[in-house]
Amino acid sequence: METAKILYKIIEFERYDVLVPFICHTCGKCCHNFAPQIPEEDFPEITRYLNKPQEEIIKQHDECYQKKFTDEPANCSFLNNENLCMIYPLRPRCCRLYPFTDFGGAGVDCPGHKEFYAIVDILFADQVYAAMYNPEDYQKDKIRYVPDLEWPTILRKFMQAKPSEPMMLEFKKMNRPLV
Ligand code: SF4
Ligand code: SF4
Repeated sequence: METAKILYKIIEFERYDVLVPFICHTCGKCCHNFAPQIPEEDFPEITRYLNKPQEEIIKQHDECYQKKFTDEPANCSFLNNENLCMIYPLRPRCCRLYPFTDFGGAGVDCPGHKEFYAIVDILFADQVYAAMYNPEDYQKDKIRYVPDLEWPTILRKFMQAKPSEPMMLEFKKMNRPLV
C-alpha cells in the first residue's frame, strides 16, 4: 500500500490543538488475508482502471472475499506482488480510512497504528484536559496552533515516541503551517 492523503486526528488541549498524522509504513500487512467489501456499482470503474474483463475481476475478488470466512484466507485480490494496491485511487472507503475504522488495527500488526498511538499516549500523559477528535468533527478554521513558547515541549514529548522520519516531517508540517 502507498499513501497519498494523510489521515490524522486532532488532540484538543486546554489552550491549543495538536494534529497527529497517521503514517502508513507500506508493509501491506492490512491487505494480507483480507478482502474489503466492494459495492457492485464500483466494479465498472475498477474494470476500466485495470483494463481487465469485469467477470474475471469479480470472480477473483469473490474468491478471496469468501476465503475470509475460512481457515485459509487469501490476500486481497487487488494487492500486487510489491505490496501495492492496484486500485489505489479507487479503493473502497474502509481501505481509505484504515486503521481509523471500527475494526482498527485489530488482528493486524500495523506499525503505523502502533506509532500513532505511541505518540498519542505520550501527548496525553499528565494532561489535565485533553480530548481526541476526528477532523470531520472539528471546525478546521478553529484549530488553535501550538504557540511558539509551547512548541519545544510538544516536540520533546513527540520525540520520546521515536517517530519515523516521514512521521517527523508530517507532524512538523501539520503543526507549524506558518513556519
Ligand atoms: S498494516 Fe498499517 S502500516 Fe502496514 S500497509 Fe497497512 S496501514 Fe500501512
Ligand atoms: S483494495 Fe487495495 S487497499 Fe484495500 S485491501 Fe485490497 S489491496 Fe488493500
